Amino acid sequence: MPAYDLIVAGAGIVGAACALAAAEEGLRVAVVEPGPIGGGATAAGMGHLVAMDESPAEFALARYSLPWWEAWAEEAAAEFRRCGTLWVADDETGMVSLQARFARFAAADVACERLDAAALREAEPELAHDLAGGLRVPGDAVVYPPQVTRLMLDRVNARGGALLHRRKVVALENGGARLDDGTRLAGPVLVACGCDTPALLPELAIRPRRGHLVVTDRYPDWLHHQVVETGYAASAHGDADESVACNVQPRPGGQLLVGSSREYGRTGNAVSMSLLARMLRRCFRFLPGLARCKALRAWTGFRPATSDGLPCIGAVPSRRNVWVAAGHEGLGVTTAPGTARLFVDLLLGRAPRLDPAPYAPLRGMT
Ligand SMILES: Cc1cc2nc3c(=O)[nH]c(=O)nc-3n(C[C@H](O)[C@H](O)[C@H](O)COP(=O)(O)OP(=O)(O)OC[C@H]3O[C@@H](n4cnc5c(N)ncnc54)[C@H](O)[C@@H]3O)c2cc1C
Repeated sequence: MPAYDLIVAGAGIVGAACALAAAEEGLRVAVVEPGPIGGGATAAGMGHLVAMDESPAEFALARYSLPWWEAWAEEAAAEFRRCGTLWVADDETGMVSLQARFARFAAADVACERLDAAALREAEPELAHDLAGGLRVPGDAVVYPPQVTRLMLDRVNARGGALLHRRKVVALENGGARLDDGTRLAGPVLVACGCDTPALLPELAIRPRRGHLVVTDRYPDWLHHQVVETGYAASAHGDADESVACNVQPRPGGQLLVGSSREYGRTGNAVSMSLLARMLRRCFRFLPGLARCKALRAWTGFRPATSDGLPCIGAVPSRRNVWVAAGHEGLGVTTAPGTARLFVDLLLGRAPRLDPAPYAPLRGMT
């Protein structure tokens, strides 16, 4: 039976980052992936690298992760661009939320700048003229996640790691994994299967949360920052069955990536025209000229969501040699590097730089 120091189930950005961090520690790693590399949630998302701060643990993981992107992105040539995030408010509630975010960022030494209505228009002339104000976070960036995922696996391979492509882990047994072709692998298993994680670990409450995105034709210099309305946090962290928020990204090639929506309880990939229309109307509220841009394609993807909005990272209690890194909802690209460092520290029995307690796989369930 082939033996490894780590078997990673899932080659999304989270599994690939964990595999690379382990390989860099000198571990012999195997990665098992049934579909395209980075073809799950990783390929469906926006690739916004953002200092999200709706809870202290979310903020800590994002801040721990973001500096790693410098090195990766440069080498990956993965459309990395530090466009910054512009949080925008259209009413007093939004301004209160901006002020709170400003205070949290200032306390954590995250560079940011408050913009009044006039400065907002100067920063982004396409914004509606009646907005209340904004907060610019210049360090945030964008990237093309599947490309980075492939680069990470190439590096794992260069360090002697094995990619078992078009194979699937069907069972966790005897301290190892059984694959769909009957192969058995010995060694600790990391389940990094995103939304499919409960198929192997039914004790984990990870639910698929569908999101819509639209990409437009090229409009170079039309938008300079990723523009996100303050209400995005309520959409992402609330538990409504259905919600939308304005979140528009200028791709380095001039296209605009337009989101966002969130839905629980949906299973198919089909685009919902009514929800798409609701999402776009919300975006037009902030960027009226977007209504004149030509949409090329719309699609859906599924975010792996947990009830408290935090990922599950660590050893799975009551299972031998089984680990998990999954449940990153809408922030798994941003937080993949920090997840990987945290996981590898725990695997090797080292004290992690980040308190692992908020991400304990079965928190709140035991
Ligand atoms: C619409 C949308 C917008 C988003 N925007 C952003 C954003 O701007 N910024 C950000 O940081 N994040 C964003 N995200 C979230 C981010 O994409 C995810 O959190 C992240 O990609 C999760 O990565 P993952 O590796 O855990 O999962 P996935 O990418 O889904 O990878 C899991 C992999 O496991 C494989 N797998 C499944 N079952 C098995 C098995 N039994 N054995 C082996 N392999 C298996 C799957 O084939 C898949 O490739 C967005 C997501 C969506 C859907």
